[in-house]
Amino acid sequence: MINSCLTNHNIKNFTTFPGDLENDDQPTAYFRLNFSIQNLRFAESTIPYKPIAIILPETVDQLLHALICCREGSLEIRVRSGGHSYEGTSYVATDGGPFVIIDVMNLNRVLVDLETETAWVERGATLADNVVDALLIDANGQLLSREVMGDDVFWAIRGGGGGVWGILYSWKIKLLKVPPTVTAFTVSRPGTKGHVAELVNKWQYVAPYLEDNFYLSCFVGANLPEAISPGISASFNGFYLGPRSKAISILKQMFPELGIVEEDCKEMTWIESVVFFSGLSNGSSVSDLKNRYMEDKGFFKAKSDYVRAPISLMGIRAALNTLEKEPKGHIILDPYAPAIHVYPAAPHEFFTPKPIEKPAMPPKPVTNIHAHL
Ligand SMILES: Cc1cc2nc3c(=O)[nH]c(=O)nc-3n(C[C@H](O)[C@H](O)[C@H](O)COP(=O)(O)OP(=O)(O)OC[C@H]3O[C@@H](n4cnc5c(N)ncnc54)[C@H](O)[C@@H]3O)c2cc1C
Repeated sequence: MINSCLTNHNIKNFTTFPGDLENDDQPTAYFRLNFSIQNLRFAESTIPYKPIAIILPETVDQLLHALICCREGSLEIRVRSGGHSYEGTSYVATDGGPFVIIDVMNLNRVLVDLETETAWVERGATLADNVVDALLIDANGQLLSREVMGDDVFWAIRGGGGGVWGILYSWKIKLLKVPPTVTAFTVSRPGTKGHVAELVNKWQYVAPYLEDNFYLSCFVGANLPEAISPGISASFNGFYLGPRSKAISILKQMFPELGIVEEDCKEMTWIESVVFFSGLSNGSSVSDLKNRYMEDKGFFKAKSDYVRAPISLMGIRAALNTLEKEPKGHIILDPYAPAIHVYPAAPHEFFTPKPIEKPAMPPKPVTNIHAHL
């Protein structure tokens, strides 16, 4: 039934499962399904939760009618953009009911308006930051702008509220100017557990308070890819919107224990820094960023959460003890700059349903913590 509904609406880019063996389109179906499965735990052929169809709309009209066809067939929908969900929520339905994946990877256009310094970004482009408007298709197939959906739904669709609020077609984002030269580095700091714990502890009091154009994240584990010697180490990824000399002088003042020197830091353009941090293999270039397929996929279990007060030194040491016993695991600490505390309209601007009031000095650090196994 879904086939005829889709065809009637001129949607041709879809495949049904297990596929039409006579036409040999089964490989196409599985290729399309697996292409954006980023966690191989969910790509196993033994995983029983396979969709009955995967639809790849190419226009907003096709996206809207894909939703209507699924509703007419009483089929559950999983919407997929990049497929990076840690638990495969964009392509798995564990309750066993029939479901369809609507994969928006072909809706990946970006329209830049230099005059207003904004851009409309279709959701399949998987870019979003500083979101100022959105186009959402609700369960009735209505296309809603921010003004029509209202403040609460606009807050919820940016990750503030759980659940599914519709299919997001595109975001409008406010653009930021970047200087011609930026600075990037990754340094590994091995040592005793006591030494690494001290560094991570100090990081908590530095990274969230660096100026907004400085990002400094911290990875901890006993088998980090960047490690220069075996055992527990911490790796620090630094990114500064400005020249190397300024980046080094800020870190020398705020975090001398890190011991950053000129040779650690590379100057580059902003787009080159995207390649630098992309995880693509050495020698990759800006044009490799256009390749949507992630080559280096793995099996993993990950969990992320927010930390609102510094972890005690004892807590860090306990985590290092666990990581030493489980060298396959690692923890990523991402800082949120102090600016997050001073945006207006607090409850709606943050990742948490709780209002955050503009603090008296000093602001509390907010850290996003990811544990990977
Ligand atoms: C290798 C890897 C590294 C990662 N590193 C980090 C990291 O460093 N920091 C970090 O914060 N996170 C990280 N993540 C997590 C990732 O950023 C989040 O899971 C993010 O939600 C992925 O976006 P996506 O579009 O790829 O997700 P998808 O898997 O496509 O979707 C995520 C959820 O949003 C829903 N959804 C997708 N598209 C739409 C739409 N158009 N409309 C409505 N709902 C939709 C899906 O149904 C699903 O529930 C990582 C994930 C992976 C696999």
